[in-house]
Amino acid sequence: MLNYNAEPQRNRHSTWISLAVVAAILVAGVLLLAAFRNASRDSHFTVSSPGPREVSQAVSTIAAHAQSGALTMPTSDDRPSIRPVDPKRTDWVITKDYAGHGGPGPYGAVDYAYYHDKDACGSALVATHPGVVKTLLNDPVYGNLVYVVGKNYSTTYGHMQKIAVKDGQSVASGDVIGQMGTTGNSTGCHVDYQVWLCKGDPTKSGTTERVCVNKNPLDFAK
Ligand SMILES: [Zn+2]
Repeated sequence: MLNYNAEPQRNRHSTWISLAVVAAILVAGVLLLAAFRNASRDSHFTVSSPGPREVSQAVSTIAAHAQSGALTMPTSDDRPSIRPVDPKRTDWVITKDYAGHGGPGPYGAVDYAYYHDKDACGSALVATHPGVVKTLLNDPVYGNLVYVVGKNYSTTYGHMQKIAVKDGQSVASGDVIGQMGTTGNSTGCHVDYQVWLCKGDPTKSGTTERVCVNKNPLDFAK
């Protein structure tokens, strides 16, 4: 009788222990994965997708080059003032808005495409402000991407079919930087466009570390 009662209790007890062990293994696995992700992001920013950390690093890299005299940062007003799509076309559409990308928050973007996808792939993409170019090729998320780094503002243009500019090249607002495409994790021809405000003038400060904050592109050109 005693044994008969004791047996189910032991079973219940060991069931709880098993559940606790499984939970602990799951938690440890998640922590390990997170640590691995961070480690690979730290050492390879050139193959990472844009995020607050990656944009800050790209801008810091440009700043270091500017301070060493390897390139010249445009000094004109660098606030983005136009859309990234072909200025001669009026049939552009926003296919995913800022909130749809998670903004406002640490990250956000706006996707531009064209009505009925008409001649979208291959259409011109332009810099929305003056800056220096840094390219990112074959990113798993953004495919071919161009950073335009200004003294205050930086912008990114993702999923490009073709890039028409080189690392370190200065561009003015409206200059063609490449063609709209669907490279990386993308289901159709569009540009993923991001605006970042980075603290400090990278050409003047003694430090090259820059911290960039994501902004809503539609606050600059609707
Ligand atoms: Zn997007």
